[in-house]
Amino acid sequence: MEHKGGCHCGNIRVRLRLAGRPADSVLRACGCAFCRAHATRTVADPQGLFEAWAADWSLVERYRFGTRTADYLICRRCGVYVAAICETASGLRAVVNVNSLDDRAAFTRAPEAMDYDGETPSARLARRAERWMPARLHDHPEAGGGGGLAG
Ligand SMILES: [Zn+2]
Repeated sequence: MEHKGGCHCGNIRVRLRLAGRPADSVLRACGCAFCRAHATRTVADPQGLFEAWAADWSLVERYRFGTRTADYLICRRCGVYVAAICETASGLRAVVNVNSLDDRAAFTRAPEAMDYDGETPSARLARRAERWMPARLHDHPEAGGGGGLAG
């Protein structure tokens, strides 16, 4: 299934392809201070695809913290956190904040509480390479293989 979403002001738009139904999607709630502050619920399907477009990428903060191995994509204008991306051995991978999707309410499973404290940076990258989903970032809303997110 395909899901659309993005930040509040519309600068960042995302499209997410998941193999399963949203009600069956495993959600995770990371226990780090950043994710707790956002009450983040994340989803990632290694068989799926995450794509993001920005009308203005200069308004997209790539926030890094901790091991500084992932970019947390946050709109500088409206403050919404949409996804984290990470360059891994499997290529660019992402985990998506379900709360930034238009159909966030369809993701009904209780998130599993995760605690990644104590994970080494190499273990972290290996986990993301396996569990996070393939990701593509596009320059403009109309780019990326025809039609962008219209309709
Ligand atoms: Zn925004």
